[in-house]
Amino acid sequence: MSAVTEHKSVLDSCRRLEREGWRVTWVGVQPDGIIDLDALRAAVDDRTILVSVMLANNEIGVVQPMAEIAAIARAHGALLHTDAAQAAGKIPVDVDALGLDLLSLTGHKYYGPKGAGALYVRRRKPILQLACQIDGGGHENGLRSGTLNVPGIAGLGMAAEICRLEMADESARLAALRDRLLSGLRKHLDGIRVNGCMSSRLPHNLHVSFDEVEGEALLMALGDLAVSTGSACSSGSQEPSHVLKAIGAVGDRAGASIRFGSSR
Ligand SMILES: *Cc1c(COP(=O)(O)O)cnc(C)c1O
Repeated sequence: MSAVTEHKSVLDSCRRLEREGWRVTWVGVQPDGIIDLDALRAAVDDRTILVSVMLANNEIGVVQPMAEIAAIARAHGALLHTDAAQAAGKIPVDVDALGLDLLSLTGHKYYGPKGAGALYVRRRKPILQLACQIDGGGHENGLRSGTLNVPGIAGLGMAAEICRLEMADESARLAALRDRLLSGLRKHLDGIRVNGCMSSRLPHNLHVSFDEVEGEALLMALGDLAVSTGSACSSGSQEPSHVLKAIGAVGDRAGASIRFGSSR
């Protein structure tokens, strides 16, 4: 079971499983981008092996109620995975408090080097044993063979350490910048609409729609601001993203939607 607003890395993996004969149930989100918990309750049953819901969305920054999702999964004996690529280093992530069995992250989303990620696998209650992902020498306890990318791994760890030390201050600073940007936009422009829940959201993310404005024209007018109308992983596409479609931000509203991210 997974959610319709997942990143392509999860969507495409689930689609592959479907092609191999597994049944994947897709759960929708509310207009604020939060997963529909009633639909999730209805979708998960005792045949569900795995629930995979992202912790924070890469476009609209919405943070999902993971502990509630975990309770639903646990009630049916299903394992819970989260894609924490956007959340790690930005908000506190505690695998026990959130009830997670598996968590994946990527270092470059929190200022680490590209090309290295991590998968947390619960070792107790329950003991999880993963199948081998890559053959060829038995590295990483036989899970993923191949010589390790030591600079990438060390960089991922160092970046995590820096985030651990600075996250509290940094998040408050980025949220203040984000909020200042939003109030500035609202002060000077009509027809501003925030996409995604504002109260359960990454501190640095602002995703807004500009009514009756054309997206590409808006981008051009923004000059040297580094922003994007689509998702970075699906750029070049003129179609509104699957996330914007899922929250009903379609038509003109999706065309002139921009994600602003405040950062170091
Ligand atoms: C960036 C991202 C990924 C993919 O990670 P890469 O290491 O860039 O392939 C997966 N999920 C989310 C939510 C992301 O933001």
